[in-house]
Amino acid sequence: MNLTRFARRRYTPGFTPLEAMPRLSALLGADLWIKRDDLLGLAGGGNKTRKLEFLVADALAGGADTLITVGAPQSNHCRLTLAAAAKEGLACRLVIEERVPGSYSPVALGNNLLFDLMGAESIRMVKAGSDLAAELAEEAAAVTAAGRKPYVIVGGGSNPLGALGYAACAQEIMAQAFDAGVAFDRIVVASGSAGTHSGLIAGLVALNAGIPVTGINVRRPRAEQEANVLKLAEATADLLGTPRPQAADIVALADWVGPGYSLPTREMVEAVRLVARSEGILLDPVYSGKAMAGLIALARAGAFTGERVLFLHTGGSPSLAAFADVLRDPAFN
Ligand SMILES: *Cc1c(COP(=O)(O)O)cnc(C)c1O
Repeated sequence: MNLTRFARRRYTPGFTPLEAMPRLSALLGADLWIKRDDLLGLAGGGNKTRKLEFLVADALAGGADTLITVGAPQSNHCRLTLAAAAKEGLACRLVIEERVPGSYSPVALGNNLLFDLMGAESIRMVKAGSDLAAELAEEAAAVTAAGRKPYVIVGGGSNPLGALGYAACAQEIMAQAFDAGVAFDRIVVASGSAGTHSGLIAGLVALNAGIPVTGINVRRPRAEQEANVLKLAEATADLLGTPRPQAADIVALADWVGPGYSLPTREMVEAVRLVARSEGILLDPVYSGKAMAGLIALARAGAFTGERVLFLHTGGSPSLAAFADVLRDPAFN
């Protein structure tokens, strides 16, 4: 796997930390480690920063002056795309999908404030089920009509070029693990628009790492998500020119989605509290909190006996304040 062939902007100085979690390990009777991608660069960090390193480099190479992307109201991807645009001197237009009807509040904390501070050129609100590709194309047409050059980034930055960010993360994890003299038996990661999970698998297969990945789904039924991940992992491997992952490499458990995307569960709230109190690490309610809820349940069920497990923290804590009511709600505590 040769990632130096691809243009890349650099938004994080060096590697993110790879840390043991001794207190959480003792509480759960498992050997748990964490890869701190919540500490990636750009405003507030999180997994989208790695994808944007390749996507924004591509936009700049093509002479674009405006980034356009789409996400949910508290989308980490929209926040970080806007931050990358600001850093590069590009304009940024956002399409915000009210994925859960009624979930958008103009006074909510989190992204409303951050979009304003970082200067989004426009924010287009659309209802759940809207044709997002058509909405993005309309934004791009408006930019072109103004004599400028748009670059459209798909939801979550999850295309093969964006997923290279997580093939790069696989390489980083293996280098750090080797340097630290630790061997991991499994990696656990949140699985949403699938670029993170797919890129990680493509990278691990390319490196012949032999480390299984347990994806924890945050949105879709298991079979549907596993098909999405496999398709994108194959396309990412093709872009890299490395062996394609197999269906057997893809696991995206759907037992911790709860009632739906971004909707709270007791297990998520417990996970966010437990990791905050035992390790001083902040998760988020939509992604890393549900992924950790899965890890906790699997650990308690003895699924990791004899294994050293690495949790890939994909970030998201900048949205915690927007979910304060839910996190304190007695119904979930
Ligand atoms: C987007 C996101 C994920 C999911 O990553 P995908 O590449 O979309 O599957 C996980 N955690 C956080 C905090 C995210 O913002």
